[in-house]
Amino acid sequence: MINIPKGTKDVTPSESYKWHYVEDKVREVAEEFCLQEIRTPVFEHTELFMRGVGDTTDIVNKEMYTFNDKGGRSITLKPEGTAGVARAFIENGLGENPQPTKMYYITPVFRYERPQAGRLREHHQFGVEVYGSATAQADAEVILIARAMLHKVGIKDLSLNINSIGCPECRAEYNGALKEYFGAHIEEMCSTCRERLDKNPLRILDCKEEGCKKIADEAPVILDYLCDECRSHHEQLCKALETAGVKYTVNPHIVRGLDYYTRTVFEFISNAIGAQGTVCGGGRYDGLVKQVGGKPTPAAGFGMGIERLLMVMQNTGAEIPLPKGPDVYLAPLCEEGYGVSLGMACRLREKGFAVEREISGRSLKAQLKYASKIGARKVVFIGEDEIVKGIYTVKNMADGTSCAMTEEELTEALK
Ligand code: ATP
Ligand code: MG
Repeated sequence: MINIPKGTKDVTPSESYKWHYVEDKVREVAEEFCLQEIRTPVFEHTELFMRGVGDTTDIVNKEMYTFNDKGGRSITLKPEGTAGVARAFIENGLGENPQPTKMYYITPVFRYERPQAGRLREHHQFGVEVYGSATAQADAEVILIARAMLHKVGIKDLSLNINSIGCPECRAEYNGALKEYFGAHIEEMCSTCRERLDKNPLRILDCKEEGCKKIADEAPVILDYLCDECRSHHEQLCKALETAGVKYTVNPHIVRGLDYYTRTVFEFISNAIGAQGTVCGGGRYDGLVKQVGGKPTPAAGFGMGIERLLMVMQNTGAEIPLPKGPDVYLAPLCEEGYGVSLGMACRLREKGFAVEREISGRSLKAQLKYASKIGARKVVFIGEDEIVKGIYTVKNMADGTSCAMTEEELTEALK
């Protein structure tokens, strides 16, 4: 027996309605916020992620599914959704259209991580990308989209954490302060953070090791280092969120795992699903489009993990309507009945009804049992007598009552 690869999951037929529900809600929210869908390939040239995500990140250094294809090109399965969209934005000249460009996607994401609750090697993200606006209003809009999505699926009590990580100018000074602070604690930090100290000290603030977290608690705070423009941007975002009635906490430890962020970063965090509580992370990345070869274009967005979203929904009792069963089940009672049920099924399906008919050759008793199990609303018996008269016995499964009907009457009754 060949098993599923570690860290991946099947969505079985009995669960797929939950995914459909979430995807439907994504599209409803997208419509309300006037976003259009963008679809990009599941794999890209490795170079894109090296440049776009950043070669000091855990994702690029440790987590990518990279291989050479038969033509000898280095290919990587998407480890996040944004870099591919930035590439597509440039390659398709989307910047020539009236701006901003407001896009969303639903995509699988591949990361070679240690599988655990809420952490998979293939997961799925709903993401939003807003390109062409540099304002704090755009950041607020992006946060409102994420929040609307959470509300739409019945999640109310996630905390929103925001922060600013400044621009390359003010961050340089802050990085200096971090290097000095963490340098004095290097002995107590994990090996990954020791490596980060030189290359990307900001990431130490995001370390999940308890020891490192403690040290990070006392670290200098970026908000004290922001330049005037970045400070004002941050204040405008706070004001916009207040105007929109959005509760938030300014959390200087939110720095995000990808190199491309500038200024605003944010996360929606749940305490209902254990340690992997971040359901959605995003922010502003004004340098990204230029970084991957386009004209400088301000951008903001987020990625929301659908598996984690479903976990929060499950653990907080957010309801997902059960799929509705067949409108009608056609039960042939004789050989000829199969042909008649086939014709009837075609006609009823053409009219838009969900029709299940017996195709396994079971006894009447077994058919009824099955029809009840799959939640059929009505069962039509098609026996020799019925065929001759053109009048069928129709059982109403909700109350067990039966009556005789022509196909025309049945069609009416199903409406
Ligand atoms: P984390 O801090 O949990 O590792 P991240 O910062 O790496 O998350 P992002 O790259 O911002 O996450 O991805 C956006 C969202 O995708 C996350 O908030 C989370 O909901 C989801 N996600 C990320 N990695 C995984 C994973 N390995 N398995 C399941 N969901 C994930
Ligand atoms: Mg991660």
